[in-house]
Amino acid sequence: MELLGALIATNSALTLVEELQIPIDSIAFFCDNTAVLHWIIHKKPTDKWVSNRINTIANTVTPLNEQHLHPSFRYVPTDQNPADIGTRGSTLTALINNDLWQQGPDFLEKPETEWPKMLDSSPENEREIHCYTLNIELTKFPIHQGNSHIQPEQEYESIVPYNNTFSLGKLVTVMQKVMKFAQNLLIKRNTRYQNTPYLWQSKRMKEFAMATINKNEVEKRVISLQYIIQDHYLDAEKRLHPNPTIPPNISQDEHGIYHYKNSYVNKNKKNMPKSLIYIIHKHPLARLIALDSHKSLLHQGRKDMASDIQQKYWIKRITTLTRSVRKSCVTCKRQHGKPYKYPFATALPTVRTQSCRPFQHVGIDYFGPIGYKTETGNSGKLWTMLTTCLITRAVHLEVVPDNTTSSFLLAMRRLVGRRGSPRTIISDNAPAFTLGYAMINADITTMVNSSQTLTAYLASNEIEIRQITPFAPWQGGVYERIVAIVKNMFYKTIGTVSRI
Ligand SMILES: [Zn+2]
Repeated sequence: MELLGALIATNSALTLVEELQIPIDSIAFFCDNTAVLHWIIHKKPTDKWVSNRINTIANTVTPLNEQHLHPSFRYVPTDQNPADIGTRGSTLTALINNDLWQQGPDFLEKPETEWPKMLDSSPENEREIHCYTLNIELTKFPIHQGNSHIQPEQEYESIVPYNNTFSLGKLVTVMQKVMKFAQNLLIKRNTRYQNTPYLWQSKRMKEFAMATINKNEVEKRVISLQYIIQDHYLDAEKRLHPNPTIPPNISQDEHGIYHYKNSYVNKNKKNMPKSLIYIIHKHPLARLIALDSHKSLLHQGRKDMASDIQQKYWIKRITTLTRSVRKSCVTCKRQHGKPYKYPFATALPTVRTQSCRPFQHVGIDYFGPIGYKTETGNSGKLWTMLTTCLITRAVHLEVVPDNTTSSFLLAMRRLVGRRGSPRTIISDNAPAFTLGYAMINADITTMVNSSQTLTAYLASNEIEIRQITPFAPWQGGVYERIVAIVKNMFYKTIGTVSRI
């Protein structure tokens, strides 16, 4: 923003010089940003965008130089910069009473020798020009000695964001980026101050630096994961109360990671790793590992998860952990969840408990198709309309040659002719069955609403139609169970008889 301010200021100065009819001796630009002053005076910007603006400023200043107006760029302290008031915002009353805004900084009233000094002979180094401009003594970096023993004892503060992600892979990526950032900082610092180079004290960061030099991305991920595992032991001490105790059959390796050594693992299963990494089961890392395994196994059950995790890690109470992870998985919930909660059996409805004649209240369903062949060799399909009495559970079967409205109507007529007109019919309207079955069902259900003939017929016989709720097949359990029994008996009896 200060760079753009400088650009506007130089443009304005050029316009004013051309338009004003007042003799001008010299021009001074003030800026409170030492970085911008460094770019303008020494012309060493690193950025292309900045470089273009600096060139524009230089081109604007050239005609001022040619007119011997001696344009100079100087530093103004922030507390004496009236432009700062504008950028920070102020009320009108405050502006009226503000001397800095009305009259400018105090030093302008004094001789030029008391103004902030010219920066033409300032040092070229960015850090040095900052100190030169602000009259600060340049402090030297302390010589690097390694500071692990200098730091005072303090409570361990983990930098790993365990609770901000549900993926171990992402966590490793985040830590890899953090380590890369630290590595880049050190490289940048050492490039600038080559006489006093800093070196990593941490063994893990040394390894990470080596992996960076070798461009070994896999190694970098392994180091990041090792760091996370090592960190979680220390984090658990702070996070968990009471502090977790390390079991006796666990030993620590040179990387600070605890291993579970089991003789069973060593002797009987040669393909199994010699030791398993010990993870504290109450720490969030254990959950992330379980989640990772669950996803990599494409949402398998808890036993598969436990078996997969135990290929590499040793976690106490793994069954509880895997069960909890499996239970909270949204994908699994969505897949295994049912549209409705299966209801407890309630009191039977009136139509099933009051005494009445058989087939006064019925449930209707189709089953099939059943393939057949005629003597002439023609083959075809037919369906069976099953009607069950809701009181006596008696069954009446009617053959339906196709799934047309007229066939259904004829079957209904035969039913009424043989068993009398029903008062109540329960049928389903499930759309998710097989296509043929759905088409048949559609006949029963939509025809009731769409076919005027059927509606008129049902109306004339005062028959009440009840359709069960979609996706709730248990509501039609009263006839579905009978369908299952009849189908079993039917197919067992008929077998593969090819002629009817
Ligand atoms: Zn799942």
